[in-house]
Amino acid sequence: MSSIKDNIDRINKEIMDTAVSCGRKPDSVQLIAVSKKKSIETVLEGIKSGAGHLGENYIQEAIEKIDAIGKDRACWHFIGHLQSNKAKFAVQYFDYIHTVDTLKLAKEIHRQAKKINKIQNILMQINIGQEDTKSGTGIKEAVELAEQISTFENVSLHGLMCLPPYFSEPEQARIYFKQMVQIKGQIMALQLENVSMECLSMGMSNDFQVAIEEGSTMVRIGTSIFGARE
Ligand SMILES: *Cc1c(COP(=O)(O)O)cnc(C)c1O
Repeated sequence: MSSIKDNIDRINKEIMDTAVSCGRKPDSVQLIAVSKKKSIETVLEGIKSGAGHLGENYIQEAIEKIDAIGKDRACWHFIGHLQSNKAKFAVQYFDYIHTVDTLKLAKEIHRQAKKINKIQNILMQINIGQEDTKSGTGIKEAVELAEQISTFENVSLHGLMCLPPYFSEPEQARIYFKQMVQIKGQIMALQLENVSMECLSMGMSNDFQVAIEEGSTMVRIGTSIFGARE
């Protein structure tokens, strides 16, 4: 069995090779190691093996891990579904929140960030496959939500995130990644206040190479680093 360190080294090399092969800079894509349902010891091993960015899905689980490990040991990304009543904790603990998909949630993040004098980095989650089972703002609503978010001075919108439909053949996800780039362009063209749009969080273990070819700047990889989840 390969170690976590071997996996991180291998994935980082694959990320760089893919970026270079499509004419992008080798360091233009950030690896986020997704550690949901993995133990504190496993996350620590990931950090010691070079994972500087960690992704977590569940607030309670994340709080326990981050308190034990130390907030400053890594850059923490919240990538799970976030309810407004947990926004306070997401703001306290996370450097980036990838899953903002409603005005209500954005407003609450702004309110909580203002209280602790923080500018919260966020991404907007797009339900790019328009699936009933998935969170994310609708494609049509995305631009309007970005305009509303731009009025919140304690929130900084850095880009978009998606979780496309699952395909065993990753090539089939390409069309969704292309659509994400289009939406990003539409929002960027508005040149909104507090909105920079340099990030595209897309690509997981099975489809990150296609996502990078289409412009991803953050890939979220769990299984290929830490193994299958229980
Ligand atoms: C679990 C998860 C991932 C990682 O998925 P893998 O297939 O294990 O690489 C990425 N993004 C989100 C939002 C997740 O929930």
